[in-house]
Amino acid sequence: MNLKDKLDAFPLFERIAQAARDEQVKAYVIGGFVRDLLLKRNSKDIDIVCVGSGIALANRLALDLGPDVHVSVFKNFGTAQLKQGDLEVEFVGARKESYRSESRKPIVEDGTLEDDQNRRDFTINALGISLNDEDYGELIDPFGGVRDLRMKMLRTPLEPSLTFSDDPLRMMRAIRFASQLNFDIEPDTFDAIMAMKDRIEIVSMERISDELNKIVLSSVPSYGFKLLYQAGLLPYIFPELMALHGVEIIEGRGHKDNFYHTLQVLDNLAPHTDDLWLRWAAILHDIAKPATKRFDKRAGWTFHNHEELGARMVPGIFRRLKLPLNEKMRFVKKLVRLHLRPIVLSKEEITDSAMRRLLFEAGDDLESLMKLCRADITSKNPEKVKRYLSNFDLVEKKLIELEEKDKLRNFQPVITGEIIMETFALTPSKVIGVLKETIREAILEGIIPNEYEPAFAFMVEEGSKLGLSPVTFPKEK
Ligand code: ATP
Repeated sequence: MNLKDKLDAFPLFERIAQAARDEQVKAYVIGGFVRDLLLKRNSKDIDIVCVGSGIALANRLALDLGPDVHVSVFKNFGTAQLKQGDLEVEFVGARKESYRSESRKPIVEDGTLEDDQNRRDFTINALGISLNDEDYGELIDPFGGVRDLRMKMLRTPLEPSLTFSDDPLRMMRAIRFASQLNFDIEPDTFDAIMAMKDRIEIVSMERISDELNKIVLSSVPSYGFKLLYQAGLLPYIFPELMALHGVEIIEGRGHKDNFYHTLQVLDNLAPHTDDLWLRWAAILHDIAKPATKRFDKRAGWTFHNHEELGARMVPGIFRRLKLPLNEKMRFVKKLVRLHLRPIVLSKEEITDSAMRRLLFEAGDDLESLMKLCRADITSKNPEKVKRYLSNFDLVEKKLIELEEKDKLRNFQPVITGEIIMETFALTPSKVIGVLKETIREAILEGIIPNEYEPAFAFMVEEGSKLGLSPVTFPKEK
């Protein structure tokens, strides 16, 4: 198969070919870019393999492209990177890798194109395209990668257990690609993953989570998670999610399987957001259900306070999975904590004060929270689903009305600690916190509006109950 036409869409390849000619090396496009070209997926990362020095080739190309082009050289890896427009090109010399059982680090030597293709993880990732004069554009497909693309199949180029024992991360990559591309995993390849699952333990959590996040971001993420479960990898990488699996039955009453429920929520949410962290909130929203599960003879199965305990589990899970411990984590924690609130509101008589509290607590994350809640409706009864969703519409409408009126979204109490101290000539002490809290509650309860003057008057009144008298008066606003 010749792909010259497809290459012609990227003038850069001609330039790389010229640089290779000048350096007198053979050069090939390889790996993910070729796969994506054939799948008509947009890809901005181009890998070039040459039989010789990748760094020298990159430098030669940069010389040709002009002074604006910067090459980053990674001497230790023998690679060089170069940016051209929105394309990122990486150059490497073809290499041969030999693994020994006593060490995870391979012996790396210079090799041929064939050696280089042999060390790749899947047939569809081992495709190369020649950039050389004699066969420019020719596809080099030693393992039937094109066949596997057509069959939508992930298969290792060499014997699967060899490929996976050389680098067990490839087990995660198989499932990640299956989930991203909606491919099957070829049965022998999948069997090898099942047999070698415990080898995942030697892989760093950062690398595992990179793959996991790509599964989370795929369009039907449940597929990847089910494969992780079926392969037996899930208990190693995410035991808390594994614990959601299963149904317990007492006195003929069972609860829903929270593993499948969670995956359904994640799938429901996927078309509505590409936000990785909102998707993580879906994965973790019921994570404390196993820990809070009780059977009550009258009420049946309950999971009291699972939202609160779940929120408290988030930092530990993020730490272990080497996910960031910054505001992303706090966002997930907050959504897990609040995930039942709109549901409760939609079931009860809606009071303004409950609405105000939700607005106050959710702040700017309200839209995300509402998306999560809508996705959380997984009833099989379409009537029920319709009813819940229309209740949510009502909740949302009321929230918008209230927000317009009270501006509580990013509620900053109009009375600060400084104002309290100044008014009553206080030094920092507990009573300031008490007063602040009382004022905040009064605003949320709708007793006073979120405005300076009425809040000031309220503060003076409440202060006098505590034996305080003002020494200053409200400032002109
Ligand atoms: P994506 O850009 O979606 O991550 P990709 O296939 O480009 O997909 P990279 O991780 O950038 O993925 O890898 C580029 C190429 O390097 C792959 O197509 C594959 O040929 C090879 N490769 C990457 N990681 C491994 C690995 N662990 N074992 C073997 N080959 C690998």
